[in-house]
Amino acid sequence: EYTGMSKERMMEIRRKNCNPMIMKVTSYKKPVFIHQGHMQWLWDVDGKRYLDLFAGVATVSVGHCHPKVTAAAEQQLKRLWHTTNIYVYPPLHEYCEKLASYLPDPLKVVYLTNSGSEANDLAMLMARLYTGNFDIITFRGSYHGGSPQTMGLTSNAAYKYPIANGLGCTNTMCPDVFRGPWGGSHCRDSPVQTIRECSCAQGYCMANDQYIGQLKETFATSVPSRIAAFFGEPIQGVGGAVQYPKNYLKEAYKLVRERGGVCIADEVQTGFGRTGSHFWGFQGHDVIPDMVTMAKGIGNGFPMGAVVTTPEIAASFAKGVHFNTFGGNPVACAVASSVLDTIKEDGAQQNSLNVGTYLMTELAKLRDKYEIIGDVRGKGLQIGVEMVKDKASREPLPPEAMSEIFEDIKDMGVLIGKGGVYGQTFRIQPPMCITKDDVDFFLSVLNKVVHSYMDRK
Ligand code: PMP
Repeated sequence: EYTGMSKERMMEIRRKNCNPMIMKVTSYKKPVFIHQGHMQWLWDVDGKRYLDLFAGVATVSVGHCHPKVTAAAEQQLKRLWHTTNIYVYPPLHEYCEKLASYLPDPLKVVYLTNSGSEANDLAMLMARLYTGNFDIITFRGSYHGGSPQTMGLTSNAAYKYPIANGLGCTNTMCPDVFRGPWGGSHCRDSPVQTIRECSCAQGYCMANDQYIGQLKETFATSVPSRIAAFFGEPIQGVGGAVQYPKNYLKEAYKLVRERGGVCIADEVQTGFGRTGSHFWGFQGHDVIPDMVTMAKGIGNGFPMGAVVTTPEIAASFAKGVHFNTFGGNPVACAVASSVLDTIKEDGAQQNSLNVGTYLMTELAKLRDKYEIIGDVRGKGLQIGVEMVKDKASREPLPPEAMSEIFEDIKDMGVLIGKGGVYGQTFRIQPPMCITKDDVDFFLSVLNKVVHSYMDRK
């Protein structure tokens, strides 16, 4: 039973002493006061239980307070909390070797950080030093961090500040086959297809050519002939589970490398088995990046991040001293190591594939039933449900309507996320331990909430 601080007192402190931005983006009209978590469940201070389908933004990978991971943390906390990495200590080495074993050659050198922004900052720096070039290309709608450097990669007005954040960063058109000008039903790698009519000839994706054409135009108009890097999330997260045509990344990587750039996969949301079919999102695109950045799910909620790169790139970075006090902290390493073991032992990746595919298939039925559900997409448990005014116009469902539906789903006991450049996409990125029963519960909630919303309008 909860005997801590009252809700009123917490809100008072939040107003007075907390980051006011948190207040703005706290999107529930009636906030949720979380006290406890276990696996896919969260309990509020009144003892009400929620099914957590957002996992603290795709972060709680194997489940809240997963007993195995908690035990690993406890054990390490009793042995050694911290030492600097000028000393050699087992958890760091055990983890680096283990993490590297999950990546294809030549991705074998691991740098540990404390967040995704830090990992991407480091990747930007390494790419620039290695190539001797400065310009970096990312997609519109992407999110790669909130530090002044990574803010330049991030392309979403909501996260931008009027500072010189975009120096050397150019955003190219996002090859979004639903909202973009070109698209169709067999463009993307998802168990469900968009209902948008496809303009591609059978077996040939015209949309991909068009979007690659936009990238070529970016090269021709906006950057010098030699570039440092291309950053891409295998499936956009904050952008709203946006997927690209099947061959896009493969062709883009080739074009980037021809211009001297390195290719960086931001796996902060898509990594660690979430996409189901593969352990890493990039594997679903049949590419091997030169650098992979990770965070969130790496520690099941424990603050941690990483960059994994090739020995060659690492060598060019070794000319200076890179030091990070907490990067590679023993407790973080013990936790992350246990997360990798737990994903394997619990069959979390396979569960993502099975449960995620079932969820998407059922969501597609609701899409066909309701005019305001425009698109259902994703892979595994990286899922987006894009809401529209109507299917013909594909105009985003306005924020007030999104909030109403979002709030009602929460009141019925399910937490999901919101994303997309216009805040028009519901995001479902739960702990990878959810079951088919949980999915059925969510589907009945969503059906009821959307149904009653349509009745009210
Ligand atoms: N990359 C991606 C794809 C993300 O979604 C995020 C966080 N939303 C980040 C990087 C930044 O991570 P962090 O908040 O840990 O700095």
